Amino acid sequence: MTSTLGGDIDTLRAALTGRLVTPDAPDYDEVRGVFNGDIDRRPALIARCESPADVATAVTFARAHRMEVAVRGGAHSTAGSSTVDDGLVVDLSPMNQVVVDPVARRVRVGGGALLSELDAATQEHGLAVPSGMISHTGVGGLTLGGGMGWLTPQAGLSIDNLLSARMVTADGTVLRAAPDEHPQLFWALRGGGGNFGVVTEFEFRLHEVGPLVQLGLLFWGLDQGTEVLRLARDLITRLPREFTVLIAGMNAPPEPFVPEELHFQPGYAVVIVGYGGAESHAALLDQVAGTLPPLVRFAGPIPYVALQQMMDEANAWGRHCYEKGTYLERLTDGAIEVITRQVPLRSSPLSVILFYQLDGAYCEVAEEETAFSGDRTPRLGTFIVAVCPDAEPLPADREWVRDTWRALQPHSTSIGAYVNSMTEHEDDRVRAAYGTKYDRLAQIKTVYDPDNVFRRNLNITPG
Ligand code: FAD
Repeated sequence: MTSTLGGDIDTLRAALTGRLVTPDAPDYDEVRGVFNGDIDRRPALIARCESPADVATAVTFARAHRMEVAVRGGAHSTAGSSTVDDGLVVDLSPMNQVVVDPVARRVRVGGGALLSELDAATQEHGLAVPSGMISHTGVGGLTLGGGMGWLTPQAGLSIDNLLSARMVTADGTVLRAAPDEHPQLFWALRGGGGNFGVVTEFEFRLHEVGPLVQLGLLFWGLDQGTEVLRLARDLITRLPREFTVLIAGMNAPPEPFVPEELHFQPGYAVVIVGYGGAESHAALLDQVAGTLPPLVRFAGPIPYVALQQMMDEANAWGRHCYEKGTYLERLTDGAIEVITRQVPLRSSPLSVILFYQLDGAYCEVAEEETAFSGDRTPRLGTFIVAVCPDAEPLPADREWVRDTWRALQPHSTSIGAYVNSMTEHEDDRVRAAYGTKYDRLAQIKTVYDPDNVFRRNLNITPG
């Protein structure tokens, strides 16, 4: 591809402030790499953009040369949406600035920043934006799809805290979307993914968090699955706002607080994070452990930034991944039957099924207020993830993910699916995920990207 572009590459290079990386660059392989080791694509051009002007230049160049465009934030998309064979990657990673205004409780974040960068800057002031649970995820893709994590029951999704966005649209226009500027676009950005343009800067509302939070981790063996999941079900319905629970079917981590004979043993974890005092957190853990004594119990205060990084290593870059997601209204006995049947069938010790608590502040945002793909009634965001150290076990665990997802469908909510947990971009599933919001999204897409330049995503086709 680069050979047919000839001297135009030099023109583009000269027009960009950031670097243009071509396949002959010594670090090309490093720069083109994405989170999912199963994705191996070779873009013709990677424009490491440093400003909105760079983004506009790169997008305009790609269109003029009929090249496919991929937009790269944190490069975490399991589907590999942020890279493309023979096309042009708009790489936002140099745009990772984070500017905190602790008085106004607002933060401006570059479109290529990672959660770790956002957390580090905001926690200097004891503040945080609700985001995801793995700190090397990009703020960009995570936010545009919704953004759920430890703080969702207390402070909502990332998009519920989005105040404005600066972006570059498909025709190279630089604009600001906010409730009073391009309001339809601002609505679409909050859940509609990267369909509408390249966000170069997000502005979020901040919340007081930490800097220390209470972490409690309880782990039981496979044989206690049904009791654990029933216990977790009851726990979630009666939890006060100061706690968040994460439920996981996983293998015990090789951490110092886990007895060595349990390292990598399969089972179920319930993680309880407390934002209040140590006493109330310990009392809750006592209660849970008293009801069903766990094999492992760990408790103690940790920095919020450490909580955000707790699962980074298990999900390190380069692992071979595949995932599917669904929403469960609750852990019904039927769902528990499926889960306890499926959890022992994983091949890789890193593959996991996770249930995120979505209630509290999550439910205080009106359904139509954002484009988010999911109702705002209490539910469990369910991620079924194959994580393999290399390519070999992936096919088996990919099937495990698909089987588990299929078996959970009768127990899932009838509407919605979290678009950020879809690896495959099937048109009918994207439509189903957005339900009645899809047509409105398609109309907004027609206004801002009629030629579907931004299509390497959970694509909304122009209406
Ligand atoms: P990228 O691959 O860079 O981008 C993903 C998509 O977003 C692409 O289509 C890209 O074009 C678009 N995009 C990215 N940045 C921009 C931008 N600035 N402007 C326009 N378009 C952009 N989600 C959660 O909500 N909570 C979690 O706890 C969570 N944990 C995860 C853990 C793992 C291990 C993985 C693999 C994913 C997890 N996710 C989670 C899903 C995650 O939100 C999505 O994968 C998300 O798309 C990642 O964003 P990114 O910027 O890193 O990805």
